[in-house]
Amino acid sequence: MSNLPLISFETILNEIKQYLKPSELETVSKAYELAYIAHVNQERKTGEPYIQHPLYVSLTLAKMRLDADTLAAAFLHDIVEDTPNTLADIKAKFGGHIAGLVDGVTKLDAIDQKTGFINQIYARLGLTDKPLSSQERRLESLRKMLLATSKDIRVVLIKLADRLHNMETLIGMSPEKQQALALETLEIYAPIAYRLGIGTIKGRLEDLSFAILEPAKYLSLKKRVSHEAANREHQVEKARRVILTALTKAGIKAEIHARVKHLYSLHRKLMRYKNDLSKVYDLVACRIVVDTVEECYQALGIIHKRWKPVEGRVKDYIASPKPNGYRSIHTTVKAVENRPIEIQIRTKEMHEQAERGVAAHWQYSEEKGTINYLRRRASRARQQDLSWVNELAKWQRQITNHKDLDALMKIDFFGDRIFAYTPKGEVIDLPLGATPIDFAYAIHSEIGNHLLGARVNGKMIRLQDQLRSGDVVELSVSKRSEPKPDWLNEAKTSYAKALIRRHLRTKKQ
Ligand code: MN
Repeated sequence: MSNLPLISFETILNEIKQYLKPSELETVSKAYELAYIAHVNQERKTGEPYIQHPLYVSLTLAKMRLDADTLAAAFLHDIVEDTPNTLADIKAKFGGHIAGLVDGVTKLDAIDQKTGFINQIYARLGLTDKPLSSQERRLESLRKMLLATSKDIRVVLIKLADRLHNMETLIGMSPEKQQALALETLEIYAPIAYRLGIGTIKGRLEDLSFAILEPAKYLSLKKRVSHEAANREHQVEKARRVILTALTKAGIKAEIHARVKHLYSLHRKLMRYKNDLSKVYDLVACRIVVDTVEECYQALGIIHKRWKPVEGRVKDYIASPKPNGYRSIHTTVKAVENRPIEIQIRTKEMHEQAERGVAAHWQYSEEKGTINYLRRRASRARQQDLSWVNELAKWQRQITNHKDLDALMKIDFFGDRIFAYTPKGEVIDLPLGATPIDFAYAIHSEIGNHLLGARVNGKMIRLQDQLRSGDVVELSVSKRSEPKPDWLNEAKTSYAKALIRRHLRTKKQ
């Protein structure tokens, strides 16, 4: 048995009746009933009734507030594969939209399993004489391919929820199969969840994979942080009360809670901080959710007035969102007992988006999951630019006519993107025409702000020269070097431009 409690349709109903119409509830119930009957004598490898699987997949999606079609398809996603029901039956009973989603999930599974997709990936990647960069590039194209082969992003969301439950119920599978699934999850699915901005699923997928792939490291880290986290939660709770009082006094309505960092992302951060836990200020962060953007900045002012901010730790992802659309203000302050804690400030809308990513856009549109809808949305809202979505639309056009995996692998997915490498082989994904300035800012704002020169494949080039795919870019920095106004014309990405502009502005003051 897995560690998850058995749930019933009631649990789903309690979630969805908060946001679906009665007729939509009817559709989801009908799908549940069909799934229940179809899987009635089946068991999961964990020994639980099979229906627990579609129930959990739907629950995850219901928590993301996805529409009735997605939830119905989630209930039906395994019945074409594993029961006598056909796609035509589903189409007859539920219509083309739901059948289309079920078909999409079934096809993705087919690529995954029948062609030995995962084995092919690792056969291709496993070649130890290949440099890391080419592996990374392959993985990137696989992630994109997975997205692009599903005509509707909701298919990918079902697949992510499906994978989440499978990862939560790995018991009963052979250790080899567990390892393979965990590796695929960590390298393909978690990054997709991240790119689509779905923070909750990304963190859980990573932690579940981490526990399988590096059990000793996982357990020791878990043990190591549990005491420290409890300690810091206590501090955050004290800070929470102080902030709440101060904000209320200023007439700002806020919800404040503590969030504990996921273990895998902590593990990665610790590797960057020489394993020094005391340097990880956001192990437990204090999250403030307010109504408006103005209140975000007001709250920041109120907090900085009360507690001294740690220098260089204020990050305004509202003015400069992360590439996946993430927005919030982060700051670290010396709060209770003068100990640093990270504070994250955002509006309700930003919070929703950080948790649910692309799923947050759904219920507002007629066209729903279509790439065209998302693309239009992305171009309308520059700030939240889901640049991946723009690219997806292009790849979809390119590959809809290809069925063969090998053919897919050879397609140049990247059109107007280039991939340049750090000397360590890390891939930096940039638009065509990008320069060393973009490269520098893509690595870190401080590297951009102190960029002095660049070597490409061992040769010095000028900062305004364009990079090409495959270039290995080595940067030199100097404390005294800083952004020049010309850089605004020489940088290609809006991200670099925003940071240059910001630096030039602060210089003037
Ligand atoms: Mn499934």
